Amino acid sequence: MTQAVRRIVVLGGGSAGWLTAALLAAEHGGLDAGKLQISLIESPDAPAIGVGEGTWPSMRETLQRIGLRELDLLRDCDAAFKQGSRFDGWVNGLKTDHYYHPFSLPQGHGEADVVGAWLRAGADQGFAECVSPQPHVCNASLAPKQVTTPEFGGAINYGYHFDAVKMGLLLRKHATEKLGVRHVADEVTQVLAHENGDIAALRTRSHGDIEGDLFIDCSGLKSLLIGQHYGVPLRSQQHVLFNDSALALQVPYTDQYGPLASVTIATAHSQGWTWDIGLPSRRGVGLVYSSAHTSVEAAEQGLRQHIERSGGPAAADLATPRHIPFTPGYRERFWQRNCVAVGLSSGFIEPLEASALALVELSAAMIRDELPANRADMDIVAKRFNDAFSYRWARIIDFLKLHYALNQRDDSDYWREHRQADSMPEGLGELLQLWRHRAPLRSDLFRVDEVFPAASYQYVLYGMGFKPNLAAPQAARLAQAQACFQQVTTATKRLLGGLPRHRDLIRHIHAHGMA
Ligand SMILES: Cc1cc2nc3c(=O)[nH]c(=O)nc-3n(C[C@H](O)[C@H](O)[C@H](O)COP(=O)(O)OP(=O)(O)OC[C@H]3O[C@@H](n4cnc5c(N)ncnc54)[C@H](O)[C@@H]3O)c2cc1C
Repeated sequence: MTQAVRRIVVLGGGSAGWLTAALLAAEHGGLDAGKLQISLIESPDAPAIGVGEGTWPSMRETLQRIGLRELDLLRDCDAAFKQGSRFDGWVNGLKTDHYYHPFSLPQGHGEADVVGAWLRAGADQGFAECVSPQPHVCNASLAPKQVTTPEFGGAINYGYHFDAVKMGLLLRKHATEKLGVRHVADEVTQVLAHENGDIAALRTRSHGDIEGDLFIDCSGLKSLLIGQHYGVPLRSQQHVLFNDSALALQVPYTDQYGPLASVTIATAHSQGWTWDIGLPSRRGVGLVYSSAHTSVEAAEQGLRQHIERSGGPAAADLATPRHIPFTPGYRERFWQRNCVAVGLSSGFIEPLEASALALVELSAAMIRDELPANRADMDIVAKRFNDAFSYRWARIIDFLKLHYALNQRDDSDYWREHRQADSMPEGLGELLQLWRHRAPLRSDLFRVDEVFPAASYQYVLYGMGFKPNLAAPQAARLAQAQACFQQVTTATKRLLGGLPRHRDLIRHIHAHGMA
């Protein structure tokens, strides 16, 4: 039981597998004595899922930790900058119905009563537009940084949009050539176990048995180790979040020089919602829906109509979308014996707010930081990991549900049922009651490393038209909040005058590199 952890085997070469292997190798790998040996097994016959094109700002730190240049990402992965999400049609479906969840915090967040002051001013400007310059920057299709801004620096917070397949190839090249990860291109056909139930090795078709001390299950929705081998059940969340299917399509631009969006645009439809991600050379578009409420034919028709309405080619000229079914939920445990699941094998809900890759980054970072020295320490780390990620998944469910729970749409049972009390998680219901009389506070989300902070709840809550009954702010607090609004106006003017068009910056970087 005190055997040292020396060999780590990652099963799966999608974004989860390569990001995890790279983060571990950058910290613990290498050829020196005492370093870990990290192997990644990837089946050449089972391609990675190939979607997952929106990230959070956390990806900037991840890339720096593994030593990848921002320039390589932008040039090799058809990548662009993402400054948050815009939600169109989620409140009532009218033409003017939209709100932003930007990546920057509200001005004065946690100090000034900007919510009280915004309501007192009549709330006629959107909350996000009032407390952050970022929606204005996004409306003008500007980049979050200038030509001279150093790699990973920004005038305003940002993450990325990228081509998931190209990102996988870049990560593979970097992890194998620069970080010493051993790549085994082979299919795993059998799991070999020790008597105590630990995994001993993974049997492959032509590379024999790959032995390890710790196994990381990144095998995607198949969940070969944690799901199939250990039988850890998936906790379904379909009673809260109904979506269980997606249709995905790559869409060419009709104008290659037109504005390049730097937000993910999430548009509500009677059948579900579409994501729309602008990469420099194409859009990635898809519709997420519930098979209990909509047929695949109706969903496909909704997707084609969305593409045509949003300036894409005629529906008849589009390819057939890929159909991706999934069960919305997460595992009862993520770490079992000497096996830990990261990525889709650990669970998947739906791509709203693009939290899946952020969870991969958080999981890999926790394994890296708390890597058990030996088998005896592993059960303690496993318990900590399971507690941390059960909590995180539950908070993600709450936050995603908030986007649906307050809708006022009346065009389908899908939207009506989403706001019924029996589909509301208990904790979220209680918070919503408290928020009728005060704004979301940092202490409502009490862990230091919350996935979604109180600021995110404020953006969605007030974006969805939630009107609380708050006590009028005191004069001094009001003046402090008004000073924040003035700072937003000043910053907006400065940024609108100083930032380049998003498309122009990307073209410049492709041609001349980065500062
Ligand atoms: C429709 C949709 C949209 C999404 N959008 C976003 C988004 O915008 N942002 C975001 O953060 N996330 C998004 N996600 C989630 C994101 O795609 C995944 O979290 C991410 O791609 C990681 O996937 P993975 O590596 O876990 O699995 P996969 O990419 O499926 O990789 C599985 C790997 O396991 C290997 N494998 C399987 N069986 C075997 C075997 N027997 N032997 C050897 N190897 C094997 C395969 O070869 C493959 O390499 C989205 C997901 C979906 C379904």
